Amino acid sequence: MIKLTLPNKPNNLTATKEAELVKKYQETAERVWSEAFIKKPFLITTAYKCAYCERKPNDGGAYPTIDHILPKSKYPEKVVDWDNLIPACAQCNNNKSNLDTEINPILNPFLHNPPDYLVLIAGLLYPIKTNPLATTTILELKLNQLEDARAEIQLSIRGRLSEIFKLLNSFYLAKSTAAFNEKEITLQLNAMLRSCSKDLPYTATKVTEVFQNDSTYYRIKNLFLENKCWSFESQDLENILKPLALCGNSLKP
Ligand SMILES: [Zn+2]
Repeated sequence: MIKLTLPNKPNNLTATKEAELVKKYQETAERVWSEAFIKKPFLITTAYKCAYCERKPNDGGAYPTIDHILPKSKYPEKVVDWDNLIPACAQCNNNKSNLDTEINPILNPFLHNPPDYLVLIAGLLYPIKTNPLATTTILELKLNQLEDARAEIQLSIRGRLSEIFKLLNSFYLAKSTAAFNEKEITLQLNAMLRSCSKDLPYTATKVTEVFQNDSTYYRIKNLFLENKCWSFESQDLENILKPLALCGNSLKP
């Protein structure tokens, strides 16, 4: 889960229009929130990812639906309330079901910054300081059902970092016989960092692996820095991605 920005409410979703759609829902149970002018801005803001599990349709997540943070079964008057809508895959939406989040609140990535609430270790999410919001979110949305998928992604990132480190190390040990030069290795590192970007699936999982304390990423960075070859682009990507990592940094003083 990563922090998201709530899209702007469309101008045509006026108070009158909202009242009209609520009435229509109450009378016909029609999916009034699925109208394109409501649904589209939410799907665009997450690049069609589920706001909870960060999967896209191609990664095992179904086509994103619009979830109601306060369930529409109990709060029909909030069926098109802009602050009550969030894109979610069918699985997370079903898992959450009719959970009354007024009584048992969960994390809302439009409001809460996930790294302040969650840590990710070997594919499993844990709440920071047994925070009830985080605990309820992990349990009710069954987010740890994705442990294996996340662990596999973390393993693959670790492998890529280790490969980049080996290439860089051999370059500095024997420049004349090395397979790649500093610039080519920088390109590989930047491509790896870009594969973690916000619009791709499992961002939090990927960046947590890259930026955790004992990560090979820092050994690569130090080697580049020692040789005065650390690129601005790598640093820019780090600045964007590192704050999304679920490394428990908020536990540190
Ligand atoms: Zn999901």
